[in-house]
Amino acid sequence: LSELSINTWLNEPGLWELPIADVEDYKYHRGIVNVVGGGTVTGAARLSALAASSCGAGLVHIFAFGSRDLYLLTSPCFMVDEGDFTDTLQDKRRKVWVCGPGLTEDEVKISLINLIKTNKTIVADASALTKENFDLLKQCAVITPHIGEFKRIFGDFKDCRIEAVKKAASILNTVVILKGPDTLIASPDGRVAVNCHANARLATAGSGDVLTGVIATLLACGMEVWEASCAAVWIHGEAAFLHNNSWPNAMDLIHNLGKARDNGRYHVE
Ligand code: AMP
Ligand code: MG
Repeated sequence: LSELSINTWLNEPGLWELPIADVEDYKYHRGIVNVVGGGTVTGAARLSALAASSCGAGLVHIFAFGSRDLYLLTSPCFMVDEGDFTDTLQDKRRKVWVCGPGLTEDEVKISLINLIKTNKTIVADASALTKENFDLLKQCAVITPHIGEFKRIFGDFKDCRIEAVKKAASILNTVVILKGPDTLIASPDGRVAVNCHANARLATAGSGDVLTGVIATLLACGMEVWEASCAAVWIHGEAAFLHNNSWPNAMDLIHNLGKARDNGRYHVE
């Protein structure tokens, strides 16, 4: 799967292999997605969690700094715990974590430190993406900055974006998804995939939080980071294409994720 040229398009055949529903599946096999939820800003984490639940996670668990009732009311499919989640971190099944959407500086920092200490696979987004957290980001599996967040971490750059994102992935030793109209996905080994399945209708509030939930879901079901990142960006675009007769908001994207994931399985022929 990985014998591809350094720069590739996202529709390159064989870029990923998506697991299908199997008769032997059980929820833990399909993957647990854990989401750190903000105590005051709750919408972003709830969008990531809903996205995970809609695109095939076996279990979605939110660990919130507060507002437990709000998280619980969002979906009866979520498990929700409030307060210190350090005990839960010992559970080896709880491998994949979304960390960043809706979190304050303090919430994100303490979460990243605790998750890294216990070797979790972290999808870092939003408020996690700062220069101050640079060393912590090195321990994350994938980071998903838009251009503003990218510059917040790495400063301004003169290179073309492909070179910049390639350098960033190499410095952090992390997959870096530089989001935008033509999202770039860079692996520390030098590969860069260019999204050719973008849809400008993705430019809506909460869209990035949805992508974060999709990436975490694909990691939780056992995909490798680069493949999961490429597939997630494609599926995210597909969710917008499936809504092509009108303008999707983040919830509309979420509703289309199941179908988009199924389409992602067959687009490479
Ligand atoms: P965020 O800014 O974190 O909410 O993320 C926005 C999401 O929408 C990213 O996945 C972007 O790649 C995507 N997006 C934003 N603007 C466009 C656009 N003009 N065309 C295609 N995708 C876009
Ligand atoms: Mg965002």
